[in-house]
This record gives sequence, structure tokens and C-alpha cells, in this order.
Amino acid sequence: MSVRVISDKCTACETCVTACPFGAIEMRDGKAFITEVCTMCGSCVEVCEFKAIERMEEAATPAADLSAYKGVWVFAEQHKGDVASVALELLGEGRKLADKRKTKLSAVFIGHNIKSKAKDLIAHGADLVYLADDPALKDFNDDSYAAILTTLARKHKPEIILAGATAIGRSFFPKVASSLYTGLTADCTVLDIDAETGHLHQTRPAFGGNILATIMTPNHRPQMATVRHKVMKPAPREDSRIGDIIEIPYTQSGDLRTRVIRTIEELGETVNICEADIIVAGGRGLGSAKNFQLIEELAKVLGGAVAATRGAVDEGWIPYPHQVGQTGKTVCPKLYIACGISGAIQHVAGMQSSDVIVAINKDPDAPIFNVATYGIVGDVHEVVPIMIKKIREMRG
Ligand SMILES: Cc1cc2nc3c(=O)[nH]c(=O)nc-3n(C[C@H](O)[C@H](O)[C@H](O)COP(=O)(O)OP(=O)(O)OC[C@H]3O[C@@H](n4cnc5c(N)ncnc54)[C@H](O)[C@@H]3O)c2cc1C
Ligand code: SF4
Ligand code: SF4
Repeated sequence: MSVRVISDKCTACETCVTACPFGAIEMRDGKAFITEVCTMCGSCVEVCEFKAIERMEEAATPAADLSAYKGVWVFAEQHKGDVASVALELLGEGRKLADKRKTKLSAVFIGHNIKSKAKDLIAHGADLVYLADDPALKDFNDDSYAAILTTLARKHKPEIILAGATAIGRSFFPKVASSLYTGLTADCTVLDIDAETGHLHQTRPAFGGNILATIMTPNHRPQMATVRHKVMKPAPREDSRIGDIIEIPYTQSGDLRTRVIRTIEELGETVNICEADIIVAGGRGLGSAKNFQLIEELAKVLGGAVAATRGAVDEGWIPYPHQVGQTGKTVCPKLYIACGISGAIQHVAGMQSSDVIVAINKDPDAPIFNVATYGIVGDVHEVVPIMIKKIREMRG
């Protein structure tokens, strides 16, 4: 739907300018003009007594012939030629969906010098691998990755395509979905399929994690979803599995709008909190950047990684790559120690799947205790040094 001004009828009375709750109408050249911040709420249509604003329904995209689409695909992300762990999680989930639907699981694998790794995807559950291996694909590029996946999907018509909700997946997957005129559900935490109809039930947290919304794409195919890292179980490796590898020749068509000049690894990213089994996280309760040393020391004796709340990141005590939560990373370690963290819903959304959560907070009513397996009511500056001392003693 869209909203437009019929210039001939507009008398420039400006009623709509004040009526628009989003400040989306300006006067330009003596006529009302609707800017890009319009949310299409429709309030202006009702207030204009000259009927100079109208609502327009967009032509509906015709529903797809659903029966023409078959198979489950996953986009198998790689980093410097190594299959990313999120790809193994997608293969695990994709395998379950494909088995329920009695169809094949395929992986789309894009990069350079990755041919030897394609068989790993078969060992982890794929029946078929579409491999695009070319020097021009060494670095991730939205345009080339989207072009390859879109062309393949148009040709082979998969019923479902999944990607990780990673920086790469989030970046190029929407482009593919819009090129294919289909829906995309971002950041899913649970997937299921109706074995009869093939409708994918795509569940994701909504409203800051307060509810879980299940979204479906009933009229269009493929059904596309990005899936949060560390939420699904990775597919186990079975070297006896067999499958086909189909090589896709890559030819660049059109200009790439971005060019990678140099890749600089951020210092904070050398510790990948998404992969860590033990995480020690600090919040604003630590009081200063210097006190983060305490967290680092505890992480070190436990062999874990350091994470933080947005509160601590906003204070400038630790860089953003360490942030856990709704606008940070989702983690799922075996042990998560939350130090001086209040337990805001936006933080909890990123760590609540941890196997064991230990919370240290001086406020006994802090919400973090609602998700904690073990809670310690106390001052982090007293409790953490005792923990470090005890662990050191235990480890000799
Ligand atoms: C759209 C949106 C997205 C957001 N995304 C994220 C996100 O991704 N990640 C995230 O973390 N937050 C996120 N937030 C912010 C979130 O709402 C909270 O503000 C933030 O998590 C609070 O951080 P904190 O727990 O470190 O600080 P505070 O809320 O200030 O809590 C500090 C805690 O430390 C305790 N404390 C104080 N001193 C001590 C002491 N000496 N010993 C022990 N305990 C002590 C206090 O009792 C308190 O509970 C988001 C907010 C919004 C609106
Ligand atoms: S209310 Fe109607 S007539 Fe008045 S400025 Fe807006 S569009 Fe024009
Ligand atoms: S539709 Fe709503 S947001 Fe858009 S211009 Fe009218 S009043 Fe403003």
C-alpha cells in the first residue's frame, strides 16, 4: 500500500502537515509532499477535507505455483575457506526439515579454494552441494553472492533456503529474497515444517524477546529464513555419507557496487564469543573499564571468553564485538557468568540458552536472577577475586 497527494486537489491548507503523527508531510512548491518517513498509517487521508490524499493498494504479486518448488537448501558460509560452524547447524536443521518433507538437502557453497571442503558438507548431511569456487569470489560481496544464489534458485526452485543470521547472511539474503519476490524471516530460533503442505513455520523472538512469533510464507516460494547462530544443533559428521557436488562456473555480470580493498581483523574479534564454551560477562556494575581486568582474569583461569552488556559497551569499557544481546551477539556456552549485569530483556535475549548461568549481583531483586541457574548476591569486587583464587587452588 502507498499514500499519495493528488496535486490538483491540494489547496495547501496544511491540515495534513500538522495531522501527520510522523512529521512525514512537508509543503513543497505550494503543495503537500509526502516524504520517505511515511509509515502509511493513513491519518492524513482522513483529515484532508479536499480528498487530496489517497491510499493506493499495490498490485499483489501473483502467488507462486507451490508444487513447482522442491528441496531444502542451506547457504553454507565459509571464513577464509573453512566451513563456518553456523553452516553445520543449518545442515543439522535442514536435514530434519528435508527428512520430514521426504526431499533432498542441498548446500550452496561460495568462495575460493574451497573445493576440498565441499565433501565436508556432504559428511554433515547435504545430499548435493552447489559449488561456486572462483578467485573473484575470494572476498564476500553482496552483489556476487546474491547473483549466484538468485540464479541457482530461479533455475532449480528450492522450497526452502536458509542462511545464518550472521553479518554475511543478514547482508545479502534480503537482496536474494526481494529478487525472488518472496518473504524472508530474519533471526529465527525455531523452525518446523508442515510435512503435507511444505509450509515452513519460522519462529523468532519479537518485541524485545517478550513474545515468540511464528511466521509463514503461504503463497510464495522459496520460503527464506536466516537462523541465529548457536541455537540449532550442528549435524554430526558421517564420513560414509555420499552426495553429489555440482560446480557452478562464475561469470560476473554487471558492475559490483562494492570492492574489498583490505580486510582488517578487529582486535576484539580475535575472541569469538559465539564459539566459546565458557563466557564471563561484565556489566555496568563493574564500575569502570579498569575493573574489566577482573572479568578478564576470571575468563583466563577458566579458559573462557569475555563478553559484556550494551551498558558496558556504551560506557566505552569494552569494544562492541563483545556485546551480547538483541543488538549484539547470541551466545550459547556451557557456562555463562554474569557479573554486575541487571538482566534487561535485551541482554537476556542473547544468552538465555546457555546451559548454566551464574549471576553475581548485589541487588537480590535484579532480573538476572530470574534466568540464573545459580545466583550469588554480593559485590563483584569481592566475589570474583574469591572465585579466581578458588579456581586457581583447584587447578593447582
Ligand atoms: C533496542 C534496544 C536494544 C538493546 N540491545 C542490548 C543488547 O544487545 N545487549 C545488552 O546488554 N543490552 C541491550 N540493551 C540495553 C538494555 O536494555 C540494558 O540497558 C543493558 O543491558 C543494561 O546493562 P547493564 O546490565 O550492564 O547495566 P545496568 O542495567 O545499569 O545494571 C547494572 C547492574 O549491576 C549491579 N551492580 C552494581 N554494582 C555492583 C557491584 N559492585 N557488584 C554486583 N553488582 C553490582 C546493579 O545492581 C545492576 O543490576 C538494548 C536496549 C534497547 C532499547
Ligand atoms: S490537507 Fe489536503 S488540501 Fe490540505 S495541504 Fe494536505 S493534502 Fe493539501
Ligand atoms: S500516511 Fe500517516 S505517516 Fe504517511 S503522511 Fe499520512 S499521516 Fe503521515
